[in-house]
Amino acid sequence: MIEVSKKCIGCNKCVPVCPFAAINMIDKKATMNEACTLCGVCVQVCPVQAITITREEASARDLSGYKGVWVYVELSETGDKTHPKKIKQVTFELLSAGRKLADELGEDLCAVLLTDKNHGYEKELGEYGADKVYMVEHDELFEYNTDIFSSVIVGLVTSHKPSIMLYGATIQGRDLAPRVASTLYVGLTADCTALAIKDGLLLQSRPAFGGNIMADILAPRSRPQMSTVRPNVMKLAEPVHGRAAVVVRESARLDKSLRRVKVLERKIDHGAGTARIENANVIVSGGRGMKTKEKFKQLEEISKLLGGVVGASRAAVDLGFKEKTHQVGQSGTTVSPKLYLCFGISGAVQHIVGMKASDVIVAVNKDPNAPIFNVARYGIVGDVNEIVPKLVEALKKGK
Ligand code: FAD
Ligand code: SF4
Ligand code: SF4
Repeated sequence: MIEVSKKCIGCNKCVPVCPFAAINMIDKKATMNEACTLCGVCVQVCPVQAITITREEASARDLSGYKGVWVYVELSETGDKTHPKKIKQVTFELLSAGRKLADELGEDLCAVLLTDKNHGYEKELGEYGADKVYMVEHDELFEYNTDIFSSVIVGLVTSHKPSIMLYGATIQGRDLAPRVASTLYVGLTADCTALAIKDGLLLQSRPAFGGNIMADILAPRSRPQMSTVRPNVMKLAEPVHGRAAVVVRESARLDKSLRRVKVLERKIDHGAGTARIENANVIVSGGRGMKTKEKFKQLEEISKLLGGVVGASRAAVDLGFKEKTHQVGQSGTTVSPKLYLCFGISGAVQHIVGMKASDVIVAVNKDPNAPIFNVARYGIVGDVNEIVPKLVEALKKGK
């Protein structure tokens, strides 16, 4: 139920932001009509907190009408004027995982795309498994903004009632998903490492208690069931060329006044590690066993010779050997390169969860019982002080 209290000063701010045109000003007081979906957007803009929404007990809600698996489509900038944005790989990973969930439920897999201009994105989304693309094209969606994007998503979810909604655990997804969850009054499981269907519900698995156990989380009394998943965690399916998705164009009433944050200047740090290790094919990582910052620098040389990027364990980052943006693991970046070389890293569970999806792992450690050898395809028991210079020499000779 939605109510407007006597505090209403008739400022009119809530009227243009309602995505459903559900507010009329009657006798200088906001009055909601039957089109209201309780999306909560107007509550955010009211300057005097005059609007309150009382929600039904979760257990009292009828959840049978919620159907479909939705994936939020994240776009990133390309720097190319003709195609300024492209779909981030994490979206395709989520579609790959979402396809399996949708098939098991016998429901549709839908991509949700918010953009100022469509560049034929539905083609790739269809090829990666989407049955439908809910597309909102609007000038106000020219760049990501929490207020604008969350209000559109909340509006779409409220109208179409998906059962499951997945987001990338990226900077954008980690900002958007909690906002949507709190507005809709539903739960959100962050950083899932596995998703499955159990008794018709989404089984969301994630590390808990510092990564020492895996927690399985179900949300039986709220919809949509929402999760974020880090990039490089879900296996990418092979795209089916020519597979088409149905485009469902949705309109959105978006008003500038909803945008409370304005971007005044953008500075892109091209040297930042996070973006580079996330997408690298070769990563050369070091841990505490490298002992000093100077010795750690030798890894830069190996990485350069292999055309890769340097990674680090948290211990190495804490010791100042490398910047935090290069940290691999649970509280760093999750990676899945073709080749992951690690020197002087013990293989703590929090490190392993961030790199175990790598195609080939090569570990060098002086302790033959180091847990890193449990995930390594090739293991060298030895001292990094001897092995690293030999490897540099061999690579230089092109061996
Ligand atoms: P150590 O565990 O100290 O291992 C050093 C290894 O080097 C040893 O195995 C040793 O045998 C070997 N060694 C020493 N000298 C030599 C030598 N001369 N030659 C060859 N080998 C040698 N860690 C991460 O990496 N990433 C994360 O994102 C992360 N997140 C965390 C989140 C939480 C909530 C917590 C509690 C911890 C997290 N950690 C993370 C920390 C993690 O538990 C470990 O402490 C850390 O990974 C250890 O780093 P390390 O392997 O470099 O150091
Ligand atoms: Fe409009 Fe949403 Fe407010 Fe209802 S809750 S009046 S739909 S903005
Ligand atoms: Fe009334 Fe608040 Fe709407 Fe302004 S924003 S008209 S104060 S309910």
